[in-house]
Amino acid sequence: MHSNQSLKEIQIALLASEYSLGDLVRYYLQNIREHASLNVFLEVFEDEALRKAARIDQRIKTGTVGKLAGLVVGIKDVISYQDHQLTAGSRILEGFEAQYNATVIERLIAEDALIIGRQNCDEFAMGSSNENSAYGVTRNPFDPDRVPGGSSGASAVAVQKDMCLLSIGSDTGGSVRQPAAFCGVMGFKPTYGRISRHGLIAYASSFDCIGLIAKHPEDIALVLETIAGKDEFDSTVSEKPVETYSGAFSTLAPQKIAYYEEILAPQSALQPEVREHLESTITQLRQQGHDVVPIEAPWLSYILPVYYILTTAEASTNLSRYDGVRYGFRSSQSESKQNLEAMYKESRTIGFGKEVKKRIMLGTFVLSADYFDAYYAKAQKVRRIIAESTQKIFQEYDFILSPTTPTTAFEIGVPRENPVEMYLEDLFTVQANVAGIPAVSYQVGFDQKKLPIGMQLMANHFEESKLLAFLQELIGK
Ligand code: GLN
Repeated sequence: MHSNQSLKEIQIALLASEYSLGDLVRYYLQNIREHASLNVFLEVFEDEALRKAARIDQRIKTGTVGKLAGLVVGIKDVISYQDHQLTAGSRILEGFEAQYNATVIERLIAEDALIIGRQNCDEFAMGSSNENSAYGVTRNPFDPDRVPGGSSGASAVAVQKDMCLLSIGSDTGGSVRQPAAFCGVMGFKPTYGRISRHGLIAYASSFDCIGLIAKHPEDIALVLETIAGKDEFDSTVSEKPVETYSGAFSTLAPQKIAYYEEILAPQSALQPEVREHLESTITQLRQQGHDVVPIEAPWLSYILPVYYILTTAEASTNLSRYDGVRYGFRSSQSESKQNLEAMYKESRTIGFGKEVKKRIMLGTFVLSADYFDAYYAKAQKVRRIIAESTQKIFQEYDFILSPTTPTTAFEIGVPRENPVEMYLEDLFTVQANVAGIPAVSYQVGFDQKKLPIGMQLMANHFEESKLLAFLQELIGK
């Protein structure tokens, strides 16, 4: 009954007493229980959600509710929700409770949105498969032997399987868009600095963004305009006024859309069905009157190395605060250690998983005195070149189109000789983070195994309005 309804439709149904918010919460809870084997929620705030729903139901009757009343949200477990546990999918934060609300949470609650629980994710948001969580892998809703993507994998599954209407995730290199593509939902990353990260556990601060996963562009628009904008707790947030994104859904004039020629080159590593869907999307857009043009991007192959050098460097400093003293987990063996350093070492060795340790070491290496210029400083320069080249493209084009990922969802636990194989998953998504621009992934079809295929559209800085309006037009609602 509630499946596939947008927030607007839900609000109309609530007002007409077709069902209550309590009923809606029970429907989501039922789906969470039914699909428990997918391992989506680390914790469900069942009693709290039902209690709050009853209170909001009362106020719906008297017409005194906020504009997000009826919205039930799941949060990736990297976002602080006061007095609730917060683990970042890591053992090192086991038992840690958030001391305050993230700004996004404050703003959601202020408009009567309800938080239903915290969702599994790759440890410290590092990964593309959810296999890096200390709390077990999350499974893909289309094939439980496959990954849901990462790092906000569970957040995408929750939306696909109607366990909440919308999930709040984080996107440092594709972490809302890639799982959205693998799970057949929409994943939206705003411009860097559009949404406050106060209360978001930091991975790589010059890349990290809060992102949204949903089924309807208008839900993304409505939530975005509520949570975006200036925040005294995060100085990286732009002062630019927040637009009414939900009011911008009128038909757009023909657009100029670029795509990278080399993606369709015969030697590129695209899965055949992903290639076919890119080609058919291009054809369709042309039939609709848009100008779709192949362009060259000789710097494309540098994006991933730049991303992994800079994000590991930033991660190595951001994660130095987890020392077994200040937050969560402390190894019991470490208590007997003779000195502070040995205690830190013991807790970090046991508390962090393999991928996180690998990245801390890589980051420490690229920041070390002997290699700083060769790696970190050079990567910063190349980042600048990529950002400037991206800007040049937008002087001529409205959007850049690509697949969201080179392949559809892959199998859980496939051993990889080379970690770079997994990093290649991020080939198309990281540009938006390197350049700080908004991007969205939406579903265009399925492959032969009936796994969803996603396309990505990127737009220029602060063109969220145009991007969401175009998306709405594309999916024909
Ligand atoms: N998969 C990418 C990584 O492992 C992106 C992660 C993210 O966006 N948080 O870094």
